[in-house]
Amino acid sequence: MSEPDWSTGAAYIDGQYMPLRDAKIPVTEWGYRRSDVTYDVVGVYYGVFFRLDDHIKRFRNSINKLRLNPTETDEQIKEILTELVKRSGYREAYVAMDCVRSRPPRGVPLHPAYGRSYLICHVLPWVWVFTPEQQERGVHAIIGSAERIAPESIDPTVKNFHWGDLTRGNFEAHEQGAETAILLDRHGRVTEGPGYNVFAVFDGKVATPRSGALEGITRKSVIELCDMLGIECELRDIHRAEFEAADEIFCSTTAGGIMPISRLGDRILGNGRPGPISTRLKDTFWEKREQGWHATPIAYE
Ligand code: PLP
Repeated sequence: MSEPDWSTGAAYIDGQYMPLRDAKIPVTEWGYRRSDVTYDVVGVYYGVFFRLDDHIKRFRNSINKLRLNPTETDEQIKEILTELVKRSGYREAYVAMDCVRSRPPRGVPLHPAYGRSYLICHVLPWVWVFTPEQQERGVHAIIGSAERIAPESIDPTVKNFHWGDLTRGNFEAHEQGAETAILLDRHGRVTEGPGYNVFAVFDGKVATPRSGALEGITRKSVIELCDMLGIECELRDIHRAEFEAADEIFCSTTAGGIMPISRLGDRILGNGRPGPISTRLKDTFWEKREQGWHATPIAYE
């Protein structure tokens, strides 16, 4: 028997570790067919996890809200993620944890209460939602025409795969020569984009939507950084017209950190370059990460 090859990534499914290329689930799972699933993603950079406990806490919250019930405890999930990163050997990684519901077995009612749920985790080389080059000159965004799915229907604080609206926005952006689409809610308020939270800067003050979006862990970091740097940061509604006139716009996500936006539709922000507050937050974020801010070490062999 040849040694398993962990070089392209590592996975854990329902109690078993395996190289990523061998990670497969049945096509009948409701996690796949009904989006009866939640997930979270934590980053590893400079060889350490960033805010691991915050991600585990949010994941557990999502699991409970969707009435999923994996057997692993929070401590065990942390051990599994650590083991996967160690097997991959990656010092910069995208580390995903999913909890999916199975199809209920034959002979019981076809109802989610009868489907067991289990954990799927995997590790990939680090992922940038926007490339370092796009971040350097600022991302080109549009406001998408699709409304973000209503929070009354799908709770956006539960990290989910209901991405139909976000994917539609991404294609619309492509058709218009842009790179991403920020979606509004039915009242015309800014929500979020495909994989990130959104911020705007007005007269030196930062604002981010108070509702209608995932409570991003990177967003939490931005709020902390603003506090440290003496920049006012408000959680409030941001309507379209106000947003379109913002001095600066930036977004935040695990897979990329703090990323400036330099175009919104036809409007060029600043001189088509990242704004000063966005740049200061981004630079401070990465400096602090390098210094071990909110880090959980990994004992690589
Ligand atoms: N909003 C959505 C829809 C996301 O998918 C993500 C991350 O994947 C975020 C916001 C940012 O959250 P975090 O900073 O916790 O990665």
